Amino acid sequence: MNSKLPDTGTTIFTEMSQLALEHNAINLGQGFPDFMMSKELISLVNTAMLNGHNQYAHMNGMPLLREKLAIKVEKLYSNSINPETQITITPGGTYAIYTALTTILEKDDEVIVFEPAYDSYIPNIIINGAKPVLVQLQYPVYNIPWDEVKEKISNKTKAIIINSPHNPTGAVLNENDIEQLKQIVYNRNIFIVSDEVYEHLIFDDILHLSILRYPELLEKSFVCFSFGKTYNCTGWKIGYCMASPALMKEFRKVHQFNCFSCNSFVQYALAEFLENEDAYLSLGKFIQNKRDYFQKLMQATKFKPVPSHGSYFQCYSYKDFSDENDMGLAIRLTKEYGVTTIPLSSFYQSKKDDKVLRFCFAKKEETLKEAAERLSRFS
Ligand code: GLN
Repeated sequence: MNSKLPDTGTTIFTEMSQLALEHNAINLGQGFPDFMMSKELISLVNTAMLNGHNQYAHMNGMPLLREKLAIKVEKLYSNSINPETQITITPGGTYAIYTALTTILEKDDEVIVFEPAYDSYIPNIIINGAKPVLVQLQYPVYNIPWDEVKEKISNKTKAIIINSPHNPTGAVLNENDIEQLKQIVYNRNIFIVSDEVYEHLIFDDILHLSILRYPELLEKSFVCFSFGKTYNCTGWKIGYCMASPALMKEFRKVHQFNCFSCNSFVQYALAEFLENEDAYLSLGKFIQNKRDYFQKLMQATKFKPVPSHGSYFQCYSYKDFSDENDMGLAIRLTKEYGVTTIPLSSFYQSKKDDKVLRFCFAKKEETLKEAAERLSRFS
């Protein structure tokens, strides 16, 4: 059989988590919290199941959950979203991104992708017969070189993928980025796929510039979110997509014959838990404290932090003290020092190696402390 993805291997997150398991290493690789999520939310799920909410939910998502999300968007981003026509609940953010790309892409279309790029984007483009057009974010700030983006736009450009807060770097988009984006998509048939799964994980009092704030951009966008990131339960695999009614209509045609609908009981619980604004509004500070705590601990090591303003991640450079390749080092740190990270080269098609590793700091203090202690032995 011909492979539809001949150049794609197993995702780096699965590979590094497996290696961490084999070597009993502290896993700061794959992005997931190791602390307990809200027990209240768990008990809401439990109650929903006991109350008999165990059959198919509506294919677009439970209506009450979509209504609650529309209210949240109105409050946070001053934009009114129609829950009937503009929101679909999905099994996770990655699925929402895949479905959005599959909805719009045709053979030989081009999609602007910024590297380092979350590893699902490019295979999602290729499997749809389209072509990624790569633009590298500028190390070490990882900002977008808009002049280069403009040069790379062609009459085949169908979409641009943005991601803020950014995985793997924690970079965030600013007002100028939004302006540039507007200039690019105005008067052109270019869609935006906006990966905003770290919407609430933003630090340093920076405002999250969601595409949802800009009705004129939302017209051309699919905006993808994750409850797993918002409620520290990545294993629940539930998220959602928002788009204009016209785009969402097409998105649902793809979605309905893929997963059809998501877990009903979880949606009941989430609809109720969304009433608790503090649960998501306090998350940024909570995770920022972890970034700061880890950064302080890492001062005892030779690694140099690259600024992170959001997400679960911070990158650290080792170029001042080693020229080992990042994949080799990530494997060696797991095997010899018992700490797992993600090498940044795995987010580049060319495997560009800036001597940078990504660390997930969404962990208990004791986990971070032990990891930093182990890393301080590395010389
Ligand atoms: N989003 C997670 C990360 O970046 C990984 C999710 C996955 O393993 N597919 O680490």
